[in-house]
Amino acid sequence: MEAHDTPSWVLIAYLIAGICFILALRGLSSPESSRRGNRAGMIGMAIAVATTLAIHDIASILEIAIAIAIGGTIGLVTARKIQMTAMPQLVAAFHSLVGMAAVLVGAAAYLNPGAFGILGPDGILPVSRLEMSLGVAIGAITFSGSVIAFLKLNGNMSGKPILLPARHLINLGLLAAILGLIGYFTIDQSPWIFWTVAALSFLIGFLLIIPIGGADMPVVISMLNSYSGWAAAAMGFTLHNSAMIITGALVGSSGAILSYIMCRAMNRSFISVIAGGFGGDSAAAGGGEVIDRPWKRGSAEDAAFLMAQADQVIIVPGYGMAVSQAQHALREMGDLLKAKGVRVKYAIHPVAGRMPGHMNVLLAEANVPYDDVFELEDINSDFAQTDVAFVIGANDVTNPAAKTDKTSPIYGMPVLDVEKGRTVLFVKRSMGGVGYAGVDNELFYRDNTMMLLSDAKKMVEEIVKALN
Ligand code: NDP
Repeated sequence: MEAHDTPSWVLIAYLIAGICFILALRGLSSPESSRRGNRAGMIGMAIAVATTLAIHDIASILEIAIAIAIGGTIGLVTARKIQMTAMPQLVAAFHSLVGMAAVLVGAAAYLNPGAFGILGPDGILPVSRLEMSLGVAIGAITFSGSVIAFLKLNGNMSGKPILLPARHLINLGLLAAILGLIGYFTIDQSPWIFWTVAALSFLIGFLLIIPIGGADMPVVISMLNSYSGWAAAAMGFTLHNSAMIITGALVGSSGAILSYIMCRAMNRSFISVIAGGFGGDSAAAGGGEVIDRPWKRGSAEDAAFLMAQADQVIIVPGYGMAVSQAQHALREMGDLLKAKGVRVKYAIHPVAGRMPGHMNVLLAEANVPYDDVFELEDINSDFAQTDVAFVIGANDVTNPAAKTDKTSPIYGMPVLDVEKGRTVLFVKRSMGGVGYAGVDNELFYRDNTMMLLSDAKKMVEEIVKALN
């Protein structure tokens, strides 16, 4: 449908949906309003989908219903079966689907431009050629990049960077070729140009993500989120669907802002992360050795005793808390300590866990009061006045190598200064297990550290028993 013959009620409905999406983003910016934000997003999406179905002009209602039934069933089954710990890879997998959808819409528009109202006197309208080829390129990069991110997060591929020689030159060459071909496609709509753009974009998406290792993955995930939004926005132009343009642009820009925030949190330059594998050389050098030094082992009773005596305890959750689903037991432990007059705070590192906001979501699920939860920059100076830092399933986000060891893959990333606490308790399953970046943590061997080796949930439940 051409934009100019879109009925005005449709445009108004899309506008309302767009406003709901903006309210959703606004709501999601703080934990207190996030439920309201989610509701606004759902209402907006319901309005957008219902309106699009009402003006369906590409496929029949039956075809759309069959597609929704198939996709909806797969989505429902996946969402019900998925473990919370597998959410990051699920998000990566969903981004890949958005990318693929953009490629398929672009291909459909290219093969049947008449159905999309983009046919001019000399073939496909030049502006539509630009929109569709850009959408296909961004979609293909999103698809192959997200597949690699999925494989890395799911453990099917090593998290270590894979560094091709001259990779920056290859990537720059590919990017120039893609942009050149997109430009040429606006004057010549030959199939080889369209399909070469798609193929080169699939390739560059793959090449951009394989060199990104260890600690830089959070930025990659939010960046792919942003790309998926831009791909959808580009397809919104091809489909003349203003709701899709608005939604895509919102996802694209909020994902870009999140990537920027993550880069700042990790002290990385945005360009070096998106160019792929900067710092990866040192990551390959620094990874994997386990330090062989004496260390102290403690029991749940020791931990309960130490914390019950403390004035202040700071709890530092990490990926291991998510794996063992220890958040409810942890809240109970915090409540018991508070009842004994101990001040309890939670310290959240921006990249703790495996997705942005991972720890905040889990703590909120366990009804930990928002006022007890602090971001890195607000709490880091508190460790020096803290009796016990209780680190549960976190490793990289506390590793002082980030401050001192230039060869470490996490060098430069700000970390939580847990070692400044009088006593540091580390809950993890074994001395051999390393964090996502694959490096040992020298804090495990310090005099003021006590290792509580166990599954996180089991250990916290035992501490709760001992506190009782
Ligand atoms: P880490 O991955 O550094 O460490 C996890 C720790 O949890 C390990 O020490 C592990 O040791 C322990 N652990 C695992 N399972 C359990 C369990 N069942 N019970 C108790 N302990 C357990 O986690 P952090 O949260 O400290 O750091 C996050 C890392 O992930 C960073 O490097 C970050 O860059 C990266 N990352 C973050 C993303 C994000 O968006 N937040 C996305 C992708 C990557 P053991 O095996 O011995 O138990």
